[in-house]
Amino acid sequence: MDTFLTLNQLQQTLKQHNILPRKELGQNFLIDRNIRDKILSFAEIAKDDIFVEIGPGLGALTGSLVERASFVYAYEKDKKLASILKARLSGIQNVRIEEKDFLELEWNTLKFKNKIKIIGNLPYYIATPILFELLKFRQFWKMAVVMIPEDVAKRIVAKTGDKNFGFISAVFALLTSCSICYRIPCCVFYPEPEIKSVVMKIIPKAKTKIEIKDPKAVWSILPRLFVQRRKTILNVLSKSFRMDKKIILSILESLQINPVLRSHQLKLEEVVKIAEQIAKMKEIQNIN
Ligand code: SAM
Repeated sequence: MDTFLTLNQLQQTLKQHNILPRKELGQNFLIDRNIRDKILSFAEIAKDDIFVEIGPGLGALTGSLVERASFVYAYEKDKKLASILKARLSGIQNVRIEEKDFLELEWNTLKFKNKIKIIGNLPYYIATPILFELLKFRQFWKMAVVMIPEDVAKRIVAKTGDKNFGFISAVFALLTSCSICYRIPCCVFYPEPEIKSVVMKIIPKAKTKIEIKDPKAVWSILPRLFVQRRKTILNVLSKSFRMDKKIILSILESLQINPVLRSHQLKLEEVVKIAEQIAKMKEIQNIN
């Protein structure tokens, strides 16, 4: 059963249930069926696919997904929307709508035999935390097709030298292959959002792009490389890790990295090497 609603149908449904779209939950509902189909096409739905949908709302994507995939688990934080969608899909066996904050999902309790696919028109206000949560549990899924704010997507796909290159770009480049598939105009949502969005496809890598010897240390250090982006990497590192500039200089020299570069000018390999060296020094010097 296709649960997509046109603008008229959506407004009627909201009125009937006395609901006003909640800005604080990022409720912008997709009202263009062609764009809906376009988004679904990027997910390359196969009959045996199991999907987790994030924020199904009133079901713009859900029903069509249920018709074409093996099973859909959809997590919606808004109690009213979850119950309306549940009622609309009642009697259909291969879907479970749960009223739940996606960020509180206990992944380890999910018992999927095979890797799943993720889909969702993400609520803008927590798009970034959701993406990091997905990265944390990437062993469970093989593809994510998510609609996210364009500025977040630009930071994710930014390369060395691009002013947007930062922590999120480095992490996604190391752990995933991702691409912007499609730009979505604001007018295909009700209410219209103030920011532009894009559809992004993310595929986790089986192995990190660059070998990381001490992942735990590297992941904890990496964000601190990208603070104070206008400062030289020498200053950033010595301040961030409260280390003597001479020590930092010797680390950078040993890695043949120019100390006056800004963090966005570092190559991915350099970012990892710096993080590993800092981790070693921290261990030796017992620095926080
Ligand atoms: N999928 C629907 C569509 O395309 O029309 C709705 C998309 S709307 C941009 C985002 C949806 O995520 C809303 O239904 C909102 O209530 C829900 N949401 C917000 N925060 C959430 C959270 N933490 N966990 C799960 N769902 C959430």
